[in-house]
Amino acid sequence: MNNTYPGNLFVVAAPSGTGKSSLVNALLELDARVKPSISHTTRDPRGQEINGREYFFINEASFERMVAQSQFVEWAKVHGHHYGTSKQMIEERIAQGSDVILEIDYQGAMQIKKIFANAVLIFILPPSWEELRGRLLRRGEDKPEVIELRLRNAQEEMAHAASFDFVIINEVFEKALFDLKAIVHAQRLSFQAQRTSRPEVFKNLNL
Ligand code: 5GP
Repeated sequence: MNNTYPGNLFVVAAPSGTGKSSLVNALLELDARVKPSISHTTRDPRGQEINGREYFFINEASFERMVAQSQFVEWAKVHGHHYGTSKQMIEERIAQGSDVILEIDYQGAMQIKKIFANAVLIFILPPSWEELRGRLLRRGEDKPEVIELRLRNAQEEMAHAASFDFVIINEVFEKALFDLKAIVHAQRLSFQAQRTSRPEVFKNLNL
């Protein structure tokens, strides 16, 4: 796969209940230049989720077939289910010149960084352990035993935050969204990004 591309690749990881999806969705609404990557998963749809919008919901056999055919740029087992980012999804987005944002777990983030060295890894932390548990309970989407599994996994997931480029603490939603927008904006100000988006300025200045 060609790993030089005009857009930026943002990877957001966080334990579930941290507000990651709400933050990413708010960014997507505000910024039309950022597009989501829709993953494939073997877990069942939750709540209002729609196939092809939040995820492509597929069975184990189909997932295994896609793995065997090297259709994933990364994949991992999370909370007992398989999740993967398809190459086709990323390639389509990159071809459109969009910035792409991936909401994946830390294992996937590490795989992406190996392939796309310029990927920007962002970790979202809850303000406290008590708040994380409270949010998972209030969400009311999962059975108690699933919540306990998610909390156990959260500890392991958060231990990997140190390998990420940026950390956002989601205490107050608006502040966390401001931080996310700031990271995206700063990335667009890198020398390479500016030269791509404003070639006339660089040409004029003989740069
Ligand atoms: P959920 O089931 O709550 O939607 O997601 C569970 C976890 O799987 C989250 O941490 C989410 O970011 C992660 N995840 C979702 N899609 C992918 C993917 O394509 N690859 C990887 N590695 N993790 C994913």
